[in-house]
Formats: sequence, C-alpha cells, structure tokens
Amino acid sequence: DIYMLTEHGVPLPDIEEMRKIGINTVKGLQMTTTDKLLALKSFNPSKVSKIQEICGNISFSNRFMTAFEVSEACKQVFKISTGSANLDKLLGGGVESMSITQVFGEAGSGKTQIAHTLCVTTQIPTEDYSGGKVMFIDTERSFRPNRIRQIARRFHLSEDSVLQNILYIRAYNSEHQYQILKNVAVKFHEDTGVFKLLIVDSIIALFRNDFMGRGVLLNRQQKLAETMSLLKKISEEYNVAVFITNQVTTSMNNKFPLLTIGDDVKPVGGNILAHSSTTRVALRKLTGNVRIAKIHDSPELAEQEEAFTITNGGVQD
Ligand code: ADP
Repeated sequence: DIYMLTEHGVPLPDIEEMRKIGINTVKGLQMTTTDKLLALKSFNPSKVSKIQEICGNISFSNRFMTAFEVSEACKQVFKISTGSANLDKLLGGGVESMSITQVFGEAGSGKTQIAHTLCVTTQIPTEDYSGGKVMFIDTERSFRPNRIRQIARRFHLSEDSVLQNILYIRAYNSEHQYQILKNVAVKFHEDTGVFKLLIVDSIIALFRNDFMGRGVLLNRQQKLAETMSLLKKISEEYNVAVFITNQVTTSMNNKFPLLTIGDDVKPVGGNILAHSSTTRVALRKLTGNVRIAKIHDSPELAEQEEAFTITNGGVQD
C-alpha cells in the first residue's frame, strides 16, 4: 500500500496526489515514469528522485531474481476459457492474466459476444484457477444483461449471481475512459484478488469520436498510449486479464473484395495499439453463426486459424 511511504518520510499530501493519478501501491509507483510524476503539481526532480530512492530501498522488486523465482511468479498467471475449446487452443489456453488480449474485426464478427461469454466463464473455477469477478467498461452501449443470463444458463449458473459479479460502467469520452481506468485501479486495489478480468469494449471508439481528422492524430495516439500503458500496469499489478475490442478499416484498393474477405481489413489504432497488446486476434464472419479467429503477428503464438460459433449460450466450438 502506498500509504506505507508515510513511515519513510513521504508527506501525506504527496501520497494523495499520486493516488489521484491511479498510483495505489509501491509497485505501481515504481511502474510509473519519472515524467508522469514530474507532471504532478507539487512535484519537482529532487522530490521525485527522493521518493524513487525510498521505493528502491523498501521494495524487493528492483533486485535480481533467480530463474526459479521467475518461474514461481509465472505460476500466478492464469488463463480464462473463452467458452470455445478451439479459440482457447488458438490463444494457448485462453485469455491470459498479466497481459492484454485484443480482438479486432468488422461489426458482427463476434467481439462483443466473446466479451459477454468471458463475463461468465471468468466466474467458473477450474483446477488451477479460482474464478473471480469482471469489470466491464462499455463505450458503445454494447452490454446486454440478457445475453449474460442466457450464457449463465448454458453453464448451469445462477443468472442473478453471475450478474452480481459483473461491475459495469459506461464511458462517455476518451478522457472519461481514462479516468474510469484510474478508478478501476483503486477498486482492484481495495478488493485485492477479487477481480480477474477487465473488459474494454471498445478501446478505440471514443478516441475516434474525440479526435477526428488528421491534424489531431498525433495527440490521439499519445492519449491512446497513456491509456494502454495504464491498462498494462493494471494487468500486471493486480494480476488480471485485460480483454479489449478494436475496430477495423477496409482497404479500398482491393479489386476482389469477396475473394479475400478478411485479409483486406486492418486493425485501427496504429502501432501504439498493436504493440501494446500482448496477443491480437483477427475475427471474421464465415457463414451463418460461424466465425474464424486468427492470431495476428504474435511473437509467441503460431499464426493459425480456428473456427468457433456464436450461439444462445455464447461462443463455443
Ligand atoms: P461485434 O464484433 O460487432 O462486437 P458481436 O459480438 O455483437 O459483433 O456479434 C454479433 C453477432 O452475434 C451477430 O451476427 C449476431 O447474429 C450474433 N448473435 C448475437 N446473439 C446471438 C444469439 N443469441 N445466438 C446466436 N447468435 C447471436
């Protein structure tokens, strides 16, 4: 807890200022860049370096780790099933904690349906996963409690209890979305270990609304980078899985759109969104309720494809 720094001579008002930007733990503070701290009102270089030194002295996270310790830390990582064994296989076991999974695809490709299914599967304990609550940040009014009920029935769970375990909030613009994420960090900190999944559906929609035209692209990308770095920090600090949806653009110079459908769509958000997501999955419609998922540009996972279906009970094989 960051308040412990008072015992090491950091004044309370300074701590409260840091909490305002979503820093709740010593580890969180260490994951925050010097620039970010310097932007705080009453902070200057000497104060920042003093606080950083105190952190370094009291925490162990700056020391070297043995490979054994790294291996033990990896055991904390868990994977949440998507409801489809095929999709899980594609993801190397499911949606992983301490990591950001991004799905992108055209409208109707199944992004929101996967998110809804995860809202339920996250709550189901397995042999090596204890189950937990979900935080859903909605930017496009895509959340449907009734879909959650249908999916809960598939897994023979109490519909009301499943809904009780999902916290929902609507974000109205990109700044509000960022503020919400800071509040999420506080909530995750207060309810240690309770939340296992954070969903943002969609990560990019509000940025596209708030920053229209080429002139503001640089600014948009900067703000997007801040949002993504906060998400990454939350995922690592509180050991939760982060699942985000992204939109696509279709390239206009495709002469045979029907032949290559799926290959001519590109995720939006540029390099920032691409490189800040650990795993990216491209989704496309096949026929009826069948969808194809493909790993996009992963250093760890093979570029394979898998099919899944969207049913009343959520996504499945
Ligand atoms: P997006 O990628 O735009 O988020 P969605 O995840 O909302 O897309 O997927 C919409 C698709 O899911 C539609 O094709 C719709 O037919 C299908 N779908 C939604 N609910 C059901 C259901 N109860 N049973 C079968 N298919 C459904």
